[in-house]
Amino acid sequence: MDTMPINSSLDAALAEARERYIGANPASLAAHMEAVAAMPGGNTRTVLFHTPFPLAMARGQGCRLWDVDGHEYVDLLGEYTAGLYGHSNPVIRAALDAALDRSWNLGAHGTMEARLARLIVDRFPGIDLVRFTNSGTEANLMAVATAIAVTKRSKVLVFDGGYHGGVLYFGGGGIPINAPHQWVLGQYNDAAGAGALARAHAGELACILVEPMLGSGGCIPAEPAFLQALRDVATETGAILIFDEVMTSRMSAGGQQARLGITPDMTTPGKYIGGGMSFGAFGGRRDIMDRYDPRRADALPHAGTFNNNVLTMAAGVAGLTEIFTPAAADALFARGETLRARLNSLSPSMQWTGLGSLLTAHFHPGPIRSAADIAGADPGLRELFHLDMLDRGFYLARRGMIALSLEVGDAELDAFAAGVAEFLDSRAPLLSRLE
Ligand code: PMP
Repeated sequence: MDTMPINSSLDAALAEARERYIGANPASLAAHMEAVAAMPGGNTRTVLFHTPFPLAMARGQGCRLWDVDGHEYVDLLGEYTAGLYGHSNPVIRAALDAALDRSWNLGAHGTMEARLARLIVDRFPGIDLVRFTNSGTEANLMAVATAIAVTKRSKVLVFDGGYHGGVLYFGGGGIPINAPHQWVLGQYNDAAGAGALARAHAGELACILVEPMLGSGGCIPAEPAFLQALRDVATETGAILIFDEVMTSRMSAGGQQARLGITPDMTTPGKYIGGGMSFGAFGGRRDIMDRYDPRRADALPHAGTFNNNVLTMAAGVAGLTEIFTPAAADALFARGETLRARLNSLSPSMQWTGLGSLLTAHFHPGPIRSAADIAGADPGLRELFHLDMLDRGFYLARRGMIALSLEVGDAELDAFAAGVAEFLDSRAPLLSRLE
């Protein structure tokens, strides 16, 4: 096989890895075939699909998952960052049990939403007042709609490779089902270009929506100078600067905005803040968020049957008060930084980008600062890495993303680093052209 051209060797390696996967996972395959009968592709959440067919998980505990075929995995995916607390965390469980004991669907204000709101307001420099939604998608839809209503302008500056939700995705420039706003597309980490775009549309630009790190787009951190330039041009043009911290809110108690000391006008947290239940929130400057005060004659409405659902509110309060303290956030950040440095020291053919506890593997040798930088990367190597790591008992995203939960310990990280080294060694002939 060593004498075969690289592409046919990769195809052969992939074919063999897929066969191995299919043979090892008959119960997952059966679950997939059953699902296909009632859902397109057997799927209700696109990111979870991967070839040949996705695994079906039976249960989880701590940092471990067990699939329906009985395989045990170290869960390094951490529910795409929403699973910060690990599986079946006893503190979260107790909060959920207590909430259920008090009953649900009360159709009224509860006692927990104000507590969770207060915790968020106290943590994030850019949030004076906050409202809850059921997802990060909804949070960003609300934030953008708020900016349009408040500024009475219609354009929205976003960035190539940005992901802000199911109808707010700007990979490859955008998708056909995106919300029908007037999008202006900039390049990530291109401060001068974004400034020029914002000025060209000044007067019509309602807001700038940006992730402090492209999360789904490959864990590509924003350079501080880029975010500062966005802050400056937003102030200059009167546009509202929105930080989508759905993923990066975990970088410190106050998110990536607190780490950098750059304060947006609005922020959208999501994922783990609801303790693992459905969650999203949009918050910001008092004068902006005050527009939702229902005591005002000109109040903007914000509806949502489940906005204050008792499970999310109770789990969220328990998580932020009893588990994810500011010290715990800093420790997790440091742990992730150490892991990324360690993985990056293994081989030049694999590059790990990210911030703190969120990281993504790239089979791309050069600098990675924007979506365009990785557009030409070979998806076959990603698939092979994914299938090989599943085979070694490590569960991670097909796109190579890892989101450490608080439950992942040193032993698991040592084993993972050893597993990655084995992969690099065993697949060296396929990877050598990347060095
Ligand atoms: N923004 C970012 C940065 C995200 O990573 C995600 C989810 N991956 C969302 C928004 C959407 O959140 P949700 O899936 O809860 O709708």
